[in-house]
Amino acid sequence: MEVPDPKDPSTERQNGGEIRLKARAMSRGVAIGRVVCLHGSNRQFFKIEIPPSEIERETRRARAAFRLASRQLNKLCANSGTSSVPGIFDAQRAMIQQSSMLEKVLDVVAGEKVNAEWAVKIVTDSYIAKYRAITDEHLRDRYIDVEDVAERILDALGGGERTAPLAKDSIIVAQELMPSTLAEQSGNHPTAVITEHGGWTSHTFILARELNLPAVTGVRKVLRRVNTGDAAIVDGYNGRVILNPTSETLERYRLPAAQFRQINYNDVTVSESNRSTLDGREITLRVNVDLPEIYKRAKRIGAQGIGLYRSEFLFNRFKGFPTENQQYEAYREIADYAGEDGVKIRTFDVGPDQSYGKSHGREKNPALGLRAIRLGLSNTPHLRTQLRAILRASHERKIDIVVPMVSGLEEIHAVREFISKESEALSSKGFAVGSPRIGAMIEVPSAVLMIDEIVRETDLVCLGTNDLVQYLLAVDRDNESVSSWFRTLHPAVIRAVRAVIKACNDAGKPLVICGEMAGSPFYLPLLIGMGATELSMNVNSILRVRKVISGLAFQEAAVVAGEVSKCRTADEVEDLLQQHINEKWSHLIQPERRTKPRI
Ligand code: PEP
Ligand code: MG
Repeated sequence: MEVPDPKDPSTERQNGGEIRLKARAMSRGVAIGRVVCLHGSNRQFFKIEIPPSEIERETRRARAAFRLASRQLNKLCANSGTSSVPGIFDAQRAMIQQSSMLEKVLDVVAGEKVNAEWAVKIVTDSYIAKYRAITDEHLRDRYIDVEDVAERILDALGGGERTAPLAKDSIIVAQELMPSTLAEQSGNHPTAVITEHGGWTSHTFILARELNLPAVTGVRKVLRRVNTGDAAIVDGYNGRVILNPTSETLERYRLPAAQFRQINYNDVTVSESNRSTLDGREITLRVNVDLPEIYKRAKRIGAQGIGLYRSEFLFNRFKGFPTENQQYEAYREIADYAGEDGVKIRTFDVGPDQSYGKSHGREKNPALGLRAIRLGLSNTPHLRTQLRAILRASHERKIDIVVPMVSGLEEIHAVREFISKESEALSSKGFAVGSPRIGAMIEVPSAVLMIDEIVRETDLVCLGTNDLVQYLLAVDRDNESVSSWFRTLHPAVIRAVRAVIKACNDAGKPLVICGEMAGSPFYLPLLIGMGATELSMNVNSILRVRKVISGLAFQEAAVVAGEVSKCRTADEVEDLLQQHINEKWSHLIQPERRTKPRI
């Protein structure tokens, strides 16, 4: 374990060997447990110690993964024409086919009695260390090829049983945790999450909040500071990690951790009367659902339908691209849960690596690349499969289709055309189909500028503030190092949100605000004051948001929103909002922890 740097302001060493690390709180709650280190970036895995009887199976898996990776590289070498790319793939193919990499991996599996993934990591790490020690810059950079090869092999191992059951009270620690890994591990009931990277709106932490899992990020070099098995406390309220806590510290945290675990939503009943503001403006609260079982709890606490169903989570459930029938069953199930309140199914919002696997190649700028509806329109059979499944499921069920990452009218026209063709084709084959309403996600700046036209040509609009902030401010929502620039209250963001609300309200079209902004009490007076009437959020935000809404008056919020519109910087907006909250709503809204930018 790395000795914490005494000069590092984020580390405090206490008496008794306890180490306190500063972190950024991502999901509320307190947990005490034991660390389980998770490795890998694209494919994530644990070190699993295996009994001698399983060595043969792991050996087979490793051999098969090398064979698959080798076949993929043969294909890439053959297809890459005369560019410089074949040289790169040739070198990677040689690593797999001509070096003793496989033998070394098999030796580690048998010698250390570990899973194939861990053995691949040990061996490729040793190759990387050797390359990095070379003084010749050109040769040194070859370590990137080893990283690529390692990812490819780990990816090829992905089809196996990669997940070991986690022990009770496991705290997952990773450099960066993929949402798919967290979704997969959710059945193992981890108790908390600590990472080095990730942002407030990254899907991993959105999911952690949905699972009510305390989580923190921003812990530098986290995997070098902890070992699997270390005792730790995660404080997701204050952004703190305590490693090797002393018995006194443990004692102090035991009660809050137990209280947090006992939060029980079964007992909550929500009366119809607190669905409006003090002055009678009705606000509809919907829930964002990624895992269908969540909706039962959401309904009990008063969710009025599903405002955002991120259909790409089906890729985790079906370990790959779901078939039409698998999708049909899934959409039927979720729509039945939602009943008359309805569900808004967003078409797949993924990039090529998530839908076709890593062998498809990496994109340099995935957030600006071939993702969401762009991917659907460039691979129309997949989009049409999804639309057919939704059309069939929407027969006698209340389903809306929402198109992600719309940049203008073209995508809406194209999707509408596919819907009408698929609908006709299904009907002619005797399938019963519904007529879902069509909505657009507004999350790209051009869509804000085109909002009047978009509103005219859609049945409803969903405002995705997570991506809107990302694209408007050009700040990667998953990148911890630019998190200070991710300013939800930047005046430009507020103007964009206001413009969208106004366009929808003027046209009498439904607008659901469904980014993380909608579930944060701090932003509510502003959203309500600007005229928002439908919010969709994480299940664990509903009660808090409900309480705020029933305790404030729309007229008062509108005055605050008017004042905010005159602010020129994000700091001014935050200070003004905080001041009004302190004066009027401190009994409803707790003070926010915000990071001021370092600019
Ligand atoms: C958003 O961008 O605000 C949104 C709701 O979608 P996602 O977080 O899935 O990108
Ligand atoms: Mg989005």
